[in-house]
Amino acid sequence: MSPDQIRALVRTIPDHPRPGIMFRDVTTLLLDPAGLAAAIDQLAETVTHKPDLVAGIDARGFVVGTGLALRLGCGLLLVRKDGKLPGETIAEDYALEYGTDRLAMHVDACAPGQKVLIADDLLATGGTALAAARLVRRAGAEVAGARFLVDLPDLGGSAALRAEGIDTASLME
Ligand code: 5GP
Repeated sequence: MSPDQIRALVRTIPDHPRPGIMFRDVTTLLLDPAGLAAAIDQLAETVTHKPDLVAGIDARGFVVGTGLALRLGCGLLLVRKDGKLPGETIAEDYALEYGTDRLAMHVDACAPGQKVLIADDLLATGGTALAAARLVRRAGAEVAGARFLVDLPDLGGSAALRAEGIDTASLME
């Protein structure tokens, strides 16, 4: 499947979650068996060095992260909204494109010496992915990169991640 065909499966919902926001809805891509497989395959092909773990960000990042982890032969680390994980956690606050939130990770989910690839459906300002990167680094592990289905480069997230030394790639802009 070509990049244009994959891109055509992402739907735009105007004025969600509030007026003026053009929400890029990847659920329509996930519904398409060939589109889902091609998206994960092509995103995995951008990863040149196999990480130890893929960190999927709550919630659509779990889908992208699971696909990449299976494809790359890695374990999956869940970065969740605060208050969901049962064990001891560390947490980081971050500013969203609309609002603020807090991400958490089990304190023992990754360890020094491990390479962790961050995965989410979409990169906007980069606040979410950078919070996940801070969690991984606080646990002593290395951020091996970050991968997204969609990048909105005008919002600066890819530049912000690269400024932090994070190898960043996406399937489409
Ligand atoms: P950021 O923190 O980079 O500004 O925003 C990215 C986060 O917000 C991701 O977790 C992503 O799922 C969500 N998000 C923000 N805007 C959109 C959008 O237009 N479409 C989708 N699918 N997710 C979005």
